[in-house]
Amino acid sequence: DTNVQSIAAEKVKAYTGTGLHTKGWLQEAALRMLMNNLHPDVAEHPDQLVVYGGIGKAARNWEAFETIVESLKELENDETLLIQSGKPVAVFRTHADAPRVLIANSNIVPAFADWDTFHELDRRGLMMYGQMTAGSWIYIGSQGIVQGTYETFAELAKQHFGGSLKGTITLTAGLGGMGGAQPLAVTMAGGVCIGVEVDESRIDRRIGTRYLDLKTDSIDEAVRMADEAKRDGRALSIGLLGNAAEVLPELLRRGFIPDVLTDQTSAHDPLNGYVPAGMGMAEAERLRGQDPGKVIRLARKSMAEHVRTMVAMMDRGAVTFDYGNNIRQVAKDEGVERAFDFPGFVPAYIRPQFCEGKGPFRWVALSGDPEDIRKTDEVILREFSDNTHLCNWIRMAQEKIAFQGLPSRICWLGYGERARFGRIINDMVASGELTAPIVIGRDHLDSGSVASPNRETESMLDGSDAVSDWPILNALVNAVGGATWVSVHHGGGVGMGYSQHAGMVIVADGTKEAEARLERVLTSDPGMGIARHADAGYGLAIRTARDKGVRIPMLKG
Ligand code: NAD
Repeated sequence: DTNVQSIAAEKVKAYTGTGLHTKGWLQEAALRMLMNNLHPDVAEHPDQLVVYGGIGKAARNWEAFETIVESLKELENDETLLIQSGKPVAVFRTHADAPRVLIANSNIVPAFADWDTFHELDRRGLMMYGQMTAGSWIYIGSQGIVQGTYETFAELAKQHFGGSLKGTITLTAGLGGMGGAQPLAVTMAGGVCIGVEVDESRIDRRIGTRYLDLKTDSIDEAVRMADEAKRDGRALSIGLLGNAAEVLPELLRRGFIPDVLTDQTSAHDPLNGYVPAGMGMAEAERLRGQDPGKVIRLARKSMAEHVRTMVAMMDRGAVTFDYGNNIRQVAKDEGVERAFDFPGFVPAYIRPQFCEGKGPFRWVALSGDPEDIRKTDEVILREFSDNTHLCNWIRMAQEKIAFQGLPSRICWLGYGERARFGRIINDMVASGELTAPIVIGRDHLDSGSVASPNRETESMLDGSDAVSDWPILNALVNAVGGATWVSVHHGGGVGMGYSQHAGMVIVADGTKEAEARLERVLTSDPGMGIARHADAGYGLAIRTARDKGVRIPMLKG
């Protein structure tokens, strides 16, 4: 496979430094971020253009990738490149403040929006799976999710264990691009983590990037080490090589009940994501090509068993939650009546943050110089010193998180904070304090940019879970506000038919024009989150709208 990897490495030049390969920094940013998504330290399978999350891709195929690169190199400062599911389809003259790139990924007319239709279109070369940040060129590796994961475990610790996971064991599965953040987030919160993973190379990768402490293929050894660390109040993470649909039932049979239980296998994708019980990686990969129908059937059965075991462990005291991979839905469809007895992580732990427009804000140093990120860290510590939670996070991230690809940082910022930070960064680029422009973006998993009834919009107060007007309005307002690239996707996180969501990336290049664009976009984007939750009747969102002056016409009094 080194051969294939080297093909990817040759095609994907990771440009850094202060020189341009395009006609402006906005185009250059899109180019560098597309390449960064496929950087060998960032992407899970760069040779197949797969970035993360099952088969979440950055471009449709290598020819499309190369044409996107050429198009970005030729693109003028008043033109916009259109991308349809990873393929460049048109360039139009727009204007300087318009997005340089507009992206639509994996969208299928609702009545047809299922995996069967998608796979057929994919097979015919008409579509690709964009996941969330894979096809919208703002994936930054596991570092991009780790704070969100930490926030979730920290809130869980607050609600159930007096504020710390010290002396508790968390059992989870899936140590992929996103799931690989779990062991680090649990140990950051003071706890012990057992992460079951069927693919040994993923375990090794997490150990290599310091997200995971050690590995074993023995259930006995994993339990013994976890119990010891729990008893000593030591933080520890263990990668347990095995299939979750076999390991969990075996643990239950032995009477092992974790304190916390969740899962981040790629259950959203029964063909290319979740590996059925009783199958090694090599066999699963072979059978995916030979008999996809059989793989899907077996994977769905295994997921049902997996969820049945989770419910049984919950009944015996494990604090159990779904971690956004739609495993409950599959289990329910397979006849597990109690599949939805445990909640999703958003209603359980995250929604109050969404009500304040808070979400996973991220920024990337286009220079490739880690010093640029260090300087932005210092600014956060200085300018947001009253936010102790945030400052603690930045210090912890500096100490524990290894950069992958272009140096970048993530932190959850809310309405007002994002626009303020954007202005500061733009000033730092203008003054030359930073060596090159900074890209500012976010996950699609944000407060006002996603409709996903089994995840971000599960159990909304007013029952509006499935209303997907919100992410579409979000994309539209970000585009007219002048984001540098904007994307509208379907099926990310939870799979085909279950979500619609929008992405936004904006460049701080130090110009006055960028300052105005940043102010507009970094206000309206989190503002949508407040409006969406206020509209659904959340008191915290209504109060936030009033306090911060977000104008919502139907909000009376
Ligand atoms: P990924 O495809 O990179 O990794 C999934 C991992 O699960 C792989 O390493 C795979 O080997 C492993 N796996 C598959 N079947 C298994 C089994 N039966 N037993 C043990 N391990 C198994 O995906 P990812 O980017 O890590 O995302 C994981 C899931 O979480 C996806 O469904 C994704 O949509 C969802 N997700 C959640 C969040 C969140 O914040 N909660 C964010 C992004 C993605």
